[in-house]
Amino acid sequence: MIELEDVTVSYARGVAALRDVSLSFDRRDVTVLLGLSGAGKSTLLRCLNRLTAPTAGRVIVDGLGELTPGRALRDHRRRTAVVFQQHQLIGRYSALRNVLLGRIGYHSVWRTLFPLPRADRVLALESLERVGLLEKALDPVRTLSGGQQQRVGIARALAQRPALILADEPVASLDPATAEHILHQIRTVALQDGIPAVISLHQVDFARQFGDRIVGLCAGRVVFDGKPSALNDDALARIYARPDPAAPHAVARQSRDGDPEETSLNMEAVS
Ligand code: ADP
Repeated sequence: MIELEDVTVSYARGVAALRDVSLSFDRRDVTVLLGLSGAGKSTLLRCLNRLTAPTAGRVIVDGLGELTPGRALRDHRRRTAVVFQQHQLIGRYSALRNVLLGRIGYHSVWRTLFPLPRADRVLALESLERVGLLEKALDPVRTLSGGQQQRVGIARALAQRPALILADEPVASLDPATAEHILHQIRTVALQDGIPAVISLHQVDFARQFGDRIVGLCAGRVVFDGKPSALNDDALARIYARPDPAAPHAVARQSRDGDPEETSLNMEAVS
């Protein structure tokens, strides 16, 4: 559905945030990205809607081809829902009005100066209903709890009728019970609507619980790609290894050395 092909991202001053990453994301799969802070998770997510452009390599979307600036990219962004850690909502607007912002990409600028069509408002209300917040539709979002605000963010994502969901640490600031509820909702949407979701998380338990697939990043490289059942202690040690700053390519060498465990984990991803 969407594929990264040999993607490298280098920021200014030579920071290589992603190195030769090749991954594809398919329908109905919830992929969880794990890794230390700075491992490259956000950069990978940002490459998937080209908020960050690859320094080398390509991002290819089924039916649209390579993501380069232009119409295909605009179409792709319109159908890509992004759920943030900070909800990026407008506090004084009602929940409904915030959710309607998810429809703006479907209209010309001048059209958005007027109330959006009834079909959009119905879709926004349906989206709020899906996350259990219909009764809060007219409340200003600043009066809602953190968990409710995150659900408004998900409803806004749903109102986009997305073909892909990207979530960057969506539950980092929530208590465990609310976090579980939010992840459950993202997973339900991905499965019901048959679309891929890519979620970065810091909680390994949640990754196991909600991921169909886990991708582990260390210093910009994929060091694990497999099912949650294959995420054993060795894999976790590889993902959470502190890279030696004096040897920036240590991780790469380790992966290519043909370590039998590594090979079996890679086979698991392929099967
Ligand atoms: P994560 O999401 O896993 O914490 P990031 O993708 O945010 O990792 O960062 C990967 C690396 O790229 C880090 O070393 C980070 O400092 C660096 N980085 C991220 N964004 C920028 C930027 N805009 N400019 C320069 N370096 C950046």
